[in-house]
Amino acid sequence: MTKAPVPFLDLVRPHAELEDELVEVVRSALRAAAFVGGPMVEDFEQAFADYCQTRFAVGVASGTDALRFALMAAGIGRGQTVLTVPNTFIATAEAITQAGAQVDFVDVDARTLSMDPLKLREYIETKCQFEPAAGRLINTQTLSAVTAVVPVHLYGQPADMDPIIELAARYQLTVIEDACQAHGAEYLSRSEKRWLKAGSMGRAAAFSFYPGKNLGACGEGGAVTTNDEEVAAKVRMLRDHGQRRKYYHEMEGYNGRLDAIQAGILLAKLKYLPDWNERRREKAAHYRELLAPADHDLALPLEPEWARTVYHLYVVRAKERDQLKDCLSEAGIGTGIHYPIPLHLQNAYLSLGYREGDFPAAECASREVLSLPMYPELTLSQQSYVVEQLLDARTVSTQVQLSCQPALC
Ligand SMILES: *Cc1c(COP(=O)(O)O)cnc(C)c1O
Repeated sequence: MTKAPVPFLDLVRPHAELEDELVEVVRSALRAAAFVGGPMVEDFEQAFADYCQTRFAVGVASGTDALRFALMAAGIGRGQTVLTVPNTFIATAEAITQAGAQVDFVDVDARTLSMDPLKLREYIETKCQFEPAAGRLINTQTLSAVTAVVPVHLYGQPADMDPIIELAARYQLTVIEDACQAHGAEYLSRSEKRWLKAGSMGRAAAFSFYPGKNLGACGEGGAVTTNDEEVAAKVRMLRDHGQRRKYYHEMEGYNGRLDAIQAGILLAKLKYLPDWNERRREKAAHYRELLAPADHDLALPLEPEWARTVYHLYVVRAKERDQLKDCLSEAGIGTGIHYPIPLHLQNAYLSLGYREGDFPAAECASREVLSLPMYPELTLSQQSYVVEQLLDARTVSTQVQLSCQPALC
């Protein structure tokens, strides 16, 4: 068993293995001076759409742009409210605000940590009034029209989309998936009786190719997937100053294109993604077996029967999370917390007027979650070392914890 440090993430090894192939992409871009647009971008878009089982994929500059453009292209903007969850990366909420809409939150399911369809229904039934004639759902306090919902496929696991889509259909809400952590994840739709790819279930979906994601660029990148031709066309305009043709601007847009070199790199890496995801699932199974002895006071991630999770992150939960993190760090093991402060308690969203206790499941998760090292190159001996240290630390910290008042969630 290794005693060597285990980094939280290893971005060096996979790129060393692919170095020749990736350098070749850069070389051919240099020789053709193909930096913006062109066949590299189009080939990647086609391949990524095929992979996600959607008609279209439109490359953009980041996952944040993908979310913002997807919302705007679906007609979401000023005077509207968009619902998402509090336990996500701030980009989900930023994109909503930057599209011109007002962000609001519904809590997550305490076990899966993704949007709780029952809480969504509760929000609709207790905070809103539906005007069937106009097909509008109005928040009775803000008088703003609730028009869209952004479920997040957190940690690589799809949200429970069937009941969310059903509610959205009933109340005429647009569904935009935040699939930034879920490239290749699958969801078993009970209504359609088949497995659906993350990114293919909403009106549109956003992906990020930030380097640490399951499919990462060597820089920034993102994509919007959709089956809706109009949405795809609008995203293409939004990413390129609102123009369909050079210097003919249909509207104001942004500089939000995907670099050709990044597209070429992503296309080269995409063919490995199914294998990388499979390896992540194997590591998750190893953690599950190795951590079985700790089951009673360490909660392992739950993979419902309707999910094929791609484990962007492997997140356990423990009451003494901070002590565990420190102990692992001393043993040279990198971990992360996704995320330590739920969005409704961030200074950035103080103006929404929420306080502690408003979203108990998300708040509880923020105190307990701990992301362990997880990547395709992680070895079984590294995992054994992580688990050994975790079990040791747990014994110690549980004793420490017993002498004070444990914060029970
Ligand atoms: C990474 C991420 C984003 C933003 O992607 P960027 O490419 O960094 O802009 C949005 N939402 C979630 C859930 C993410 O993990």
